[in-house]
Amino acid sequence: MANWNPWHGCHKYSPGCRHCYVYRSDAAHGKDSSVVAKTSSFGLPLAKNRAGEYKIPSGERVWTCFTSDFFVEDADQWRPEAWAMMKERSDLNFLFITKRIHRFYECIPEDWDAGYPNVHICCTVENQACADQRLPFFKELPIAQKSIICEPILEHIDLSAYLGPWAKEVVAGGESGPSARICRYEWITDLQRQCREAGVSFWFKQTGAMFEKDGKLYRIPRRHQHIQAQKSGLNYTP
Ligand code: SF4
Repeated sequence: MANWNPWHGCHKYSPGCRHCYVYRSDAAHGKDSSVVAKTSSFGLPLAKNRAGEYKIPSGERVWTCFTSDFFVEDADQWRPEAWAMMKERSDLNFLFITKRIHRFYECIPEDWDAGYPNVHICCTVENQACADQRLPFFKELPIAQKSIICEPILEHIDLSAYLGPWAKEVVAGGESGPSARICRYEWITDLQRQCREAGVSFWFKQTGAMFEKDGKLYRIPRRHQHIQAQKSGLNYTP
């Protein structure tokens, strides 16, 4: 597993962005997250060590652009080169998450065709309005691997009209940080039920910092959020 952040910084775009972790962590260092800039690791996929081997070994999943949005407008000038590196490293699996799926056709390279087989695109839908706006479009796009991200989940979401074999997985999670909004247990169990009915994998990734179950609100420390979600036993593979 490798991380590749070709550019850093973003602009808040939809309700899930309110407590964006990029803004939170940059604020701690006095950095302005609204300035989008290429990073020093822009060329990482093709970087080699002294032995002439790729620094990212073949077969790795590469978590891509987690300190920005891969489709953010400011990165239009750099994205073609990023795509070219992803194409050249067809032995890696690049995964990125976007809230700007509406920009898909403005952002793909000319030779995209049915989608680069080694690129996994995840569309975030943090509430019902985002789901209804983004998923009908996302569902039809030529992308080899697609997943849906309900994180931070902000309310009960009904995905049943959209789910099907086209979606590789649904991932759900609460919000972290000191101002986190509540995540309700029943939102998660109902998403899991929808996934079971549609035969789509489901991953309850993390509880978030404010988790409500059976009318009780729990403040969950960061280090326990993933473990508690895993302990719930809600993950599902068809
Ligand atoms: S799109 Fe993602 S990176 Fe950009 S502001 Fe929103 S949460 Fe942060």
